[in-house]
Amino acid sequence: MKKAPVNKIIPFSNVDGPGNRTSIFFQGCTFNCLFCHNPETIRLCEGCGACVDKCPAGALARDAEGKIAWASEKCVQCDTCIRVCPHSASPKVKWMTVEEVLAQVKRSAPYIGGITTSGGECTLYNEFLIELFTEVRKLGKTCLIDSNGSFDFEADPRVLSVCEGVMLDVKAVEPGWNDRLISYPRDRVLKNLDYLLKAGKLFEVRTVIFPGRDRENEDTVRYVSRRIGGSCSYKIIRYRPFGVREQYQKVLGEFETEKDYAGHFAAIARTEGAKKAFVV
Ligand code: SF4
Ligand code: SF4
Repeated sequence: MKKAPVNKIIPFSNVDGPGNRTSIFFQGCTFNCLFCHNPETIRLCEGCGACVDKCPAGALARDAEGKIAWASEKCVQCDTCIRVCPHSASPKVKWMTVEEVLAQVKRSAPYIGGITTSGGECTLYNEFLIELFTEVRKLGKTCLIDSNGSFDFEADPRVLSVCEGVMLDVKAVEPGWNDRLISYPRDRVLKNLDYLLKAGKLFEVRTVIFPGRDRENEDTVRYVSRRIGGSCSYKIIRYRPFGVREQYQKVLGEFETEKDYAGHFAAIARTEGAKKAFVV
């Protein structure tokens, strides 16, 4: 039976795609972005044990196999474990089967239009997604993937045939800035941008706008906008330091992006043809 590590499931979300959706966040990521707001989702637990004694509720222990076991019923959600973890991981992860995730989706089904899988990077668990989406579609619900663009959709497009589309992050196009921001070559992401567009599976593109990075922001926004035109929405996201690791806040600046500054890039996007550009 296929299992995947699930960090959390939000039964009702209105910020992860259109309408009301169940959002499933998988653990583990292929990137290590400077501005990650959920750095505890980047890696799987390495079992170092540093968090166990720090838990004030006695919710963490080593199991018989030496792995870290999380007793969710004892957990008071103080997040001490996440703060002390030196590996950008979390012990609050459940390895779930497709049936277990599906059971949760079914409970929300009367009130949602569909599901969105996110992370971390959910495409790390491609086979799991294919099974899950196949079942969710039988319920008459839509399926969307929130992806950083590291999965090669052209080489293995199976998951696209069982979902409505992909919400793709395009973080940077200038190679130096890209490498500094995401620690992953940009080529795969940009290839996915073109491929998903051609395949009619690009649901939305997102770009984070950083304060004071005029040239880098503009390069990315112009590049994306010229390609997508009016074919999908373009979410221009204001950088906010909330949740960002302290050492990276110093690199990126401790201030959030002003609304007007982000609006300036949304205007550029529209000038370049991205009719559905908007700021969040
Ligand atoms: S959030 Fe972590 S440290 Fe806090 S009670 Fe839960 S398991 Fe323990
Ligand atoms: S969650 Fe982090 S601190 Fe806790 S055992 Fe796993 S790797 Fe170590």
